[in-house]
Amino acid sequence: MKTKITQSPTIAARFIEHGDVVAFPTETVYGLGANVFNEDAIRKIFAAKGRPTDNPLIAHIAELSQLDQLVQEIPPAAQKLIEAFFPGPLTLVLPKHKTISLLATAGLQTIGVRMPSHPIARQFLRACGVPLVAPSANLSGRPSPTTWQAVRDDLFGRIACILQGDQTKVGLESTVVDCTGRVPQILRAGGVTLEQLRTVLPETEIADAQDASAPKSPGQKYRHYAPQAKVVLTHFPQFTVPANESAYIGLHEPPQPAMFDKVMICRDAEQYAHALFQFFRECDELGVKTIFCQAVGEEGMGLALMDRLRRAAHG
Ligand code: AMP
Ligand code: MG
Repeated sequence: MKTKITQSPTIAARFIEHGDVVAFPTETVYGLGANVFNEDAIRKIFAAKGRPTDNPLIAHIAELSQLDQLVQEIPPAAQKLIEAFFPGPLTLVLPKHKTISLLATAGLQTIGVRMPSHPIARQFLRACGVPLVAPSANLSGRPSPTTWQAVRDDLFGRIACILQGDQTKVGLESTVVDCTGRVPQILRAGGVTLEQLRTVLPETEIADAQDASAPKSPGQKYRHYAPQAKVVLTHFPQFTVPANESAYIGLHEPPQPAMFDKVMICRDAEQYAHALFQFFRECDELGVKTIFCQAVGEEGMGLALMDRLRRAAHG
């Protein structure tokens, strides 16, 4: 398949109209979008990514008025989160509208909904005129793409179009909050922090990840975010001597920095999150065998960052 690479949201939207899939920038990571009302187009997402079909997709909207097409009702807690955090890196899990295909929701009676804040994403969604279901625009199992070049490396020839933008700002995926239960529960940590959510809804909890028999967020059981290199978490100031062909990313300088093929020192957890997936991809290109990643405190963006680092390390 020929892949069109364009800077024009209106050209990209035409591919959606024709039932094709389009990769587009958002503030979290690049997404791979299809018309939520077109089952054939949704199938193309799973095929292009090699994504298991029991992993649900998030629906993206440009306007709040589009919510009625996607969900059956908006509970009061969800309403408060919408007022505080839409548009932004927050996905709300709500009871799905009966017309939404079970293919999009992986058989669930709920749907994740998000309104991106990225200006190009918003222009594109407006030009499409329909909500788009969109997972991250990477091959399944690879780190999520934070640049259009990363999308091209994974999906060129497998999708109809890539809408270009800059490197994404947040660099990690959205926070997923289940709003269908007694209290709001974080199913996946992400761009909106637990602390921010609690300023609006103090009762917000982190879902118990132990309940693996019936995961509420099916995608979370899969290996994610992993480079080809082995990822090792290090806890400052303890540090093992770097192995050959290794790289390091963290907040503090490692001992013997010259021993590493690649080193990145980040100012704070936000910058670390912003850089991580791109760093993983660059290490793979260099043929690095081991990536040492400094563990961080689990406050603020540190919660989502540690979730991704642990998944990358333990696979
Ligand atoms: P991705 O778009 O690749 O970042 O993956 C989206 C993730 O959001 C899935 O893997 C799920 O973990 C979560 N998710 C999406 N929709 C739902 C839903 N209806 N219920 C629970 N979790 C969801
Ligand atoms: Mg993904």
